Amino acid sequence: MSDDAFDLVVIGSGPGGYVAAIRAAQLGLRTACVEQYPRLGGTCLNVGCIPSKALLDSSEHFEVAQKGLAAHGVRVAEVALDLAVMHARKDKVVHDLTRGVETLFRKHKIERVQGRGRLVSASEVEVSGEGLPRRLATRRILIATGSKAAAVPGIAYDGRRIVHSTDALTLPEVPARLLVVGAGAIGLELGSVWRRLGSDVAVLEFMDRIVPGTDTGSAKLLQRSLERQGIQFRFGVSARTARVIGETVEVQVEPAAGGEAETLVADVLLVAVGRRPFTEGLGARELGVAFDERGRIVVDAQFRTNVDGVYAIGDVIAGPMLAHKAEDEGVACVERMAGVAGHVNYDCIPNVVYTWPELASVGLSEEAARAAGRAVHVGTFPFLANGRAKAMGEKDGQVKLVVDAATDRVIGAHIVGPRASDLIAELVVAMELGASAEDLARTVHAHPTLPEAVKEAALAASGRTIHI
Ligand code: FAD
Ligand code: NAD
Repeated sequence: MSDDAFDLVVIGSGPGGYVAAIRAAQLGLRTACVEQYPRLGGTCLNVGCIPSKALLDSSEHFEVAQKGLAAHGVRVAEVALDLAVMHARKDKVVHDLTRGVETLFRKHKIERVQGRGRLVSASEVEVSGEGLPRRLATRRILIATGSKAAAVPGIAYDGRRIVHSTDALTLPEVPARLLVVGAGAIGLELGSVWRRLGSDVAVLEFMDRIVPGTDTGSAKLLQRSLERQGIQFRFGVSARTARVIGETVEVQVEPAAGGEAETLVADVLLVAVGRRPFTEGLGARELGVAFDERGRIVVDAQFRTNVDGVYAIGDVIAGPMLAHKAEDEGVACVERMAGVAGHVNYDCIPNVVYTWPELASVGLSEEAARAAGRAVHVGTFPFLANGRAKAMGEKDGQVKLVVDAATDRVIGAHIVGPRASDLIAELVVAMELGASAEDLARTVHAHPTLPEAVKEAALAASGRTIHI
């Protein structure tokens, strides 16, 4: 290999790829990052985490201005929606953050190569885009090509009436009726955005609950809150086909267990039934890289594929499709390349649904712990009894801790409530450090704050809660 070869070529600039590239450069690896789109940041910055949270925040302001201020003694005359400004603000947030990644690349002298990357061999990546293809010689290749929205067979996206999350982030007007397929994070978050802005929202879900896989009791609490806000749920049903008729969509819906189909009509149909790994045109299969039955690249604990010198991280491999999981895998992967002992603790990956209230969890659900034969204590504390939540006017939700009965270690935490996304951090750190419920219970928490509910839940695990 020539001396001017890169030490590492990263394909994909999402949170997995760009963070890996920065860490690799910090560790002294001569690094290039290939991205097919003109903007860095991948799904998360451009069409995922960031624009969805920008709209969640804006739509929350709109709803609070309409309905939430009077109770605080704040009178507003007229509240009107300017959707174009809301979208423009979201676009600026995205623009600023993607420019931030460009700046970080320059700072770390990472070569940014725009175009579609394809593995020619384990030491060569061909980049095609505008102009002639360019070949990058490299000692290692890191695949961080992420994922794309999955589809329901029988339902074709048209980008206007039948949409996936990307289009649902840019709807030019508020649909009167929004039908959502899938009660996962995307369905609930984007369903919440458009409901707050004025849509009638109904969510169809194949399973018998929202956010399958999370703690059942906590998901139920969130479901009730969302129902009170006006979102309707239909469980145990599956969307089969859909067709656009004029300005509406007709959706054929069947019971998941089989039976008579019915027709539902909406103005926009949002299909949010998961995402699939994206490896089209990558050349990985041709090179002999192993994939699993769900199209994910198979890696070992050091993120090595079966082809020497080729690695993979993020949404394109197994595990939860989350930005922070991709980031931490990127860091651990390149640290291992550089001889540093990086690792990812998959037992401690937080998962947040950014509805209001939010649902945040880490570790084992109560039912998963019991199913695994673990004897557990469960401590819960409702926000209704938390002084700060009361002052904020937040009544919904609770903190729930799942604690190993033998060791008192916290093995799971599930929060439904205001700022649950921030509150979960304390519990992620506690679990990383092997803390017990007693450790949390004896840690002084500032008063009056929402985290006091965490302390009270820890006390509740041994029947000593003070405020209920
Ligand atoms: P990606 O971010 O998908 O990036 C992959 C990049 O690779 C893309 O830029 C793509 O263009 C590029 N690429 C692919 N193939 C090639 C090629 N051959 N050559 C060059 N470039 C290529 N996660 C959270 O943790 N929190 C959230 O709040 C959250 N919200 C979300 C909201 C929505 C609407 C969506 C859709 C997702 C959300 N996610 C969230 C999930 C998160 O976006 C992903 O888990 C994360 O982006 C995965 O990072 P990644 O680096 O693996 O891949
Ligand atoms: P998901 O897998 O989380 O949820 C999809 C839901 O659709 C499931 O509940 C499933 O049972 C249901 N479903 C599937 N087919 C169906 C059908 N035909 N009819 C009715 N219901 C059906 O997927 P998602 O919400 O699309 O999100 C995709 C990925 O993006 C997830 O992995 C998620 O972690 C990630 N994401 C994360 C966040 C966050 O962290 N806040 C936000 C958005 C997306």
